Amino acid sequence: MKIFCIGRNYVDHAKELNNPVPAEPLIFMKPPTALVVNNKPFFYPDFTRDLHHEGEIVLRVCKNGRSVQPEFAHRYYDAVAFGIDFTARDLQDKLKQKGQPWEIAKGFDYSAPISKWVPLAELPNPGDIHFQLKKNGEIVQDGHTRDLIFPFDVLIVHISKYFTLQKGDVIYTGTPAGVGPVQIGDILEGFIEDKHLLTCPVR
Ligand code: ZN
Repeated sequence: MKIFCIGRNYVDHAKELNNPVPAEPLIFMKPPTALVVNNKPFFYPDFTRDLHHEGEIVLRVCKNGRSVQPEFAHRYYDAVAFGIDFTARDLQDKLKQKGQPWEIAKGFDYSAPISKWVPLAELPNPGDIHFQLKKNGEIVQDGHTRDLIFPFDVLIVHISKYFTLQKGDVIYTGTPAGVGPVQIGDILEGFIEDKHLLTCPVR
């Protein structure tokens, strides 16, 4: 299974990190060893001093496909989860400055906690999913998927141009504004439409 991630997919987040708003989806990947399931704790890695949370809606791919046409894109995903795209921001900044790939800052072990799946059909409005990340009980990120620069269908079309989509692949669709550092002892919680889906204690 593959884990696709989309960078800078909300204007307010691109701006908070002084990044340009991209003209097409910015894709990177994490290996399957990045996943953390069942609300297991996250262990703060020793190679960073500036670990950031990025709360995101994650899509579940339900069908194999390549070069998917826009009118069929909606058939390729069937559920969403709340995910955290943990990022070693200090490492990422250094790599970006040198124009180098940022894998080690994004794809390291346990960098991708994910909640259980919620079928799209169970959501009140799959076209505008509301999601929130709380840190120690306080809302730090609050997003609506209507604000995505590249909505789900566009991501399916774009990713499948380069990579065969396989049932079981997942897509971290990008983070809204409000990313920030986490410390050992913090508790992160993810909500979709007020439903508590993810708990991630940082140890
Ligand atoms: Zn992200």
